[in-house]
Amino acid sequence: MISFSACSPSSTNNVEPPASPAKSAVSDVSFNFDTKTVKLNSGYEMPVIGLGTYSLKDDICVNSVSAALKNGYRLIDTAYIYHNEESVGKGIRESGVPREEIFITTKLYMNQYADAENAINEALKKLDVDYIDLILLHHPGAHDIEAYKAMEKAVSEGKIRSIGLSNYYIDELEDFLPQITIMPALIQNEIHPYYQENEVIKYMLEKGIVMEAWYPLGGRGHTAELFNNETIAEIAKVHNKSSAQIILRWHLQKGVVAIPGSSNPEHIKENMNIFDFELTAEDMKKINSLDRNEKHDWY
Ligand code: NAD
Repeated sequence: MISFSACSPSSTNNVEPPASPAKSAVSDVSFNFDTKTVKLNSGYEMPVIGLGTYSLKDDICVNSVSAALKNGYRLIDTAYIYHNEESVGKGIRESGVPREEIFITTKLYMNQYADAENAINEALKKLDVDYIDLILLHHPGAHDIEAYKAMEKAVSEGKIRSIGLSNYYIDELEDFLPQITIMPALIQNEIHPYYQENEVIKYMLEKGIVMEAWYPLGGRGHTAELFNNETIAEIAKVHNKSSAQIILRWHLQKGVVAIPGSSNPEHIKENMNIFDFELTAEDMKKINSLDRNEKHDWY
């Protein structure tokens, strides 16, 4: 079993949290493949691979979260709109893994932005935790600045440790940044070999913002196209790994956090088992060349 800690010693409950980052401070967002973590600009360590829980409900969600944590995962991604925050909290408790070792991400939905303070309290209650490691605004939308400011306040109150955005691209961010105080720690966008967002990744990493991929395997209904891609399948054969493992390893070597979704215990294990091999520069180049600018969802 592979296990790693989600938190640096400086991020435990017992010590002063790191100071909020100034907007101009650019942090080093390179991944540590020994600890399997990246240090966010908030000062907290975050695992570079996690479990996505979109579409996982009730007992399936509880069991998937618990299975993932028992298999060494320490990052769980949920959202208000997935209607499963209670189940994620239950899965965490059932796993027996101490809460402080786990990095929980949730997201506020657009219909919550006008009263984000209440939404943050609701997330804490549903997850049944004292703090949330990372909250993202799910999409750009009305009152998003207001909601972000409420998240900034919640950081100062110790309810949230790090804050970020999802589905924000360069134009949206250029508009957003002058209006806020705390630099986003992370941006979660659609990224996979057919939609690589190389310009966006470069821009965010230069600002010290960590990038995270949703649909890392192409998303439901599209995974077979990617898994059977000749280039990916060939590389998988050479490394004696599955296509899914090759794609996930490609994300990490590009410096992109991946949160593959699955309720299948074998796939959950498989997706974590990507730290005993390395893609060569040539492998990376070949997968980089598969970009088709092909988005698999509308946002
Ligand atoms: P994904 O790309 O992770 O693909 C999931 C599909 O791959 C599922 O059908 C799963 O059964 C299959 N799969 C997983 N591991 C496999 C393996 N080893 N072998 C074969 N098949 C495997 O898509 P996703 O789950 O929709 O996205 C990942 C996560 O990203 C979501 O669960 C959610 O947490 C997050 N997300 C966020 C947004 C956003 O707007 N911020 C949007 C979509 C998803």
